Parts: sequence; structure tokens; C-alpha cells
Amino acid sequence: MNCATTRHARRSGETPTASYCCLKNPTTTRTDTMLATILTTLAVGLCATTGAADELHERLFTIDTHVDVPRIEEVREFDYLSVPSAQVDISKMEAGHLDAAFFILFSSQTPMDTAGYKAGREEAMARYATIRRMLDRHPDRIALARTADEARAIHASGKLVAFLGMENGNPLAGDSANLKQYYDLGVRYLGLLHMGHNDLGDSADPNRGRHEAEKLHGGLTDAGHAVVAEANRLGIMVDVSHAQRDTAIEMAEVSKAPVIASHSAVRALNDISRNMDDDQLKAVAATNGVVQIVAFNTHLKKGHRERMPAIIKLAQEVGLTAGNHDPNTLSPAMRDKYLAGRAEIDRKWPKVTATVSDLVDHIDYAVKLIGIDHVGIASDFGGGGGIEGWRDASETPNVTRELVARGYSEEDIAKLWGGNLLRVLEDVQRAATPQ
Ligand SMILES: [Zn+2]
Repeated sequence: MNCATTRHARRSGETPTASYCCLKNPTTTRTDTMLATILTTLAVGLCATTGAADELHERLFTIDTHVDVPRIEEVREFDYLSVPSAQVDISKMEAGHLDAAFFILFSSQTPMDTAGYKAGREEAMARYATIRRMLDRHPDRIALARTADEARAIHASGKLVAFLGMENGNPLAGDSANLKQYYDLGVRYLGLLHMGHNDLGDSADPNRGRHEAEKLHGGLTDAGHAVVAEANRLGIMVDVSHAQRDTAIEMAEVSKAPVIASHSAVRALNDISRNMDDDQLKAVAATNGVVQIVAFNTHLKKGHRERMPAIIKLAQEVGLTAGNHDPNTLSPAMRDKYLAGRAEIDRKWPKVTATVSDLVDHIDYAVKLIGIDHVGIASDFGGGGGIEGWRDASETPNVTRELVARGYSEEDIAKLWGGNLLRVLEDVQRAATPQ
């Protein structure tokens, strides 16, 4: 919410709500007029700055390249207009002027066999069904884009834009011919890897539970090469996020079209395997691609390495899943066990909270290394993303405020917030030969 009328308020006829920056006459309990004058000056100055940044934010076409969704069987009651437990719904996107998001056909890395591939396919399709239902229920508020031009036209009509991305190539069962069916659904980027190696290449996060080695293949496999070539042919952006360093660089080198990192951060600022080192960042930029810096606490700031495995172990013990992490759905005994376990984990390994300032530190680093044309922004909402100041889609203007405060021009901010990504999508589709 901001000083200006919001788009949602314009559409619905509601009276827009003013934020703190619109309080032009702060009062004090003291009669010190000098202090009151100083406070008023500061408040008006803040309002002027924030108001200008918010007006700039409203002019942008903002694209978030990574939003995870639950499996449809877990959310049959969701209306998608307003879901209090979700970081992204239609109302929050409208309120925060988050104009477009890539909604993700995610699947967990199951074993590489017939049953595992089938499970991966079913999970990806269950998430597609969630996204499809949102689009079918609210065609007046949000629509699917398959090209940059379609996205711009939908945005110009006053609706939100949904793109489709795919995270984990496991459902392809190692056969590039299976990619076409996802292209036909509207998928426009493919992340080949997730957590755990697969038959396309190595993951940045080997599956410790399955005792996987740091590297399984040492790079992209023959099947991985074929999938990259097929993505190039169809006009699907190749996404290196989650790929192990050498696999990621090889993907960038062999792709005939620009590649993206749909949700990644900078390893020089936080040395974890999931983040990208300077060579990886340069490899993506060398394709004329884009690295979308992700608002994920433990990617931006060093966390306790024991915390997340402990939470996952506890969740599995009480029966929570990736799609249902609400302990209120558990039996009273399991709920109590979960809450006690979480309190113990919080005490032993406190949660690390990154801020919007930390996010923009990573953006600054990437911009200085590879240039403003090769950097963008992603939330990973629904998949563990969300930081102090950008906890859900409604808080999106805070990111623009920080970029303005750091001195980025409107032209540069427009590139970061989606201009670069649309350029890459256009380049990838221009280079494609789908027929
Ligand atoms: Zn991810």
C-alpha cells in the first residue's frame, strides 16, 4: 500500500488505505516545537522519497521468476483471491503491484527408475492443476502468458500475468522427447535439477539422506545435453539454478540460446553450494542471459547448517509434507510434538533472517560483476523464500524502495524487475525452431 491509489482499489472502487508515509503531521507529547518541526520535516521527507519510489514501482512491469504452489489435492478449498496462509495470491499480488510471476511445476527428486519418474510426473502435474484452477477460476484477474508480447498485452489490459516454469527435469525420465508436452502446457523455463542428482546432471545439493557423493556425473550427461538442445529447439529457457557449479557452467556453454538462473544468490557473499560463484555468474551473462537474485534467508545470509535438516526430519516424523506445513491440520498429539520440536530447534539453531538490504547487496554484487542487463529478482515464495521486508507479494514495493535508495535509475530498476527476463525470453523464442 502506498500514497497513491492502488490498482486494486481503482478496480474495486474501494477507498485506498494510506500508509505511514502519508502521515504528514506527526504529533509529539512534548511541546517542544523545534522537535515537532524536525519530526515533521523528516516524515515529509520520508514520504516524498517513499511516495516517489512507490509511484515508480507502480509504473514498472514487475516479474517474479519463482513462485511455488501446493499440490492441488492439498488446497481444494483455496479460492486464490485471498489465502491468508499463502505468500502469493491474487489480492497480495495486486496490493503489492507484483504484476507477473512464474508459477512452478515443481517435483521432488525421486529415485531414477520407472516408479520414481511416474511419481515426479504426477507431482509436477498436480501443481500444474493448482495453477490451472487459479487461471480458470479468475480469468478476469490473471491470465497465462506464453510469450513476452502476450505478457505485455495481458499487463496492459490490467490483469496479472502468470507464466509457467518447471523445477526439476526428473519427470522427463531422461528422454528429451518428453519436454514437448510441458511446452504445450505453456512451460517457458526448465530447471534441470533440484535437490539430489538426476540423470540430466549433478545437483548443487547432493541428497545426503541417500548418501550421494558431491558429484555423480561430473557435469551434464548425454541426456542433459539432449534436454538442453530440445529446450533450445522449443523455445524454453534453460535454468541453471540448483545445478552443481560445473553442471551449471556446462549448461550455459552448450546452450545455443541465453540461459537463466531463475532463483539463485551470490556465493562470494554467502559460501554455500547452492549459490553461484563468479565463474557461474559470468557464464550466464556470457550467453546474454540473466541471474534472478532470490529472496531466500539462508541463501542471502549464512544460517545454521543443522537447522533445515532438523526441521525436515521433524516434519516427516509428524506427517507434514512440502504441500501441507500447517501443524493445525495434525492430530493434537502430533501437533504438540511438532511445536515442542520446533521450539527446541529454534533454541539450538535460531532462524537467520535476511532483509531487503541483504537482497540488494547480492543484486549490487551481481550488477557490478556482470552488468545491469544480466540481473533480476525472484522470491521463491511458497518454496522457502521470503525475507524481512518482503515476506509476501503485498510487500513487493519495499524492494523497489531499497533499489531507489541505493541510487538505481528507473531504467535500471525496470531491467531488474523483468525487462531483462523478457529480453531473454524473446531471444530464446526467436532462436527456437519448434516445428
Ligand atoms: Zn528451488
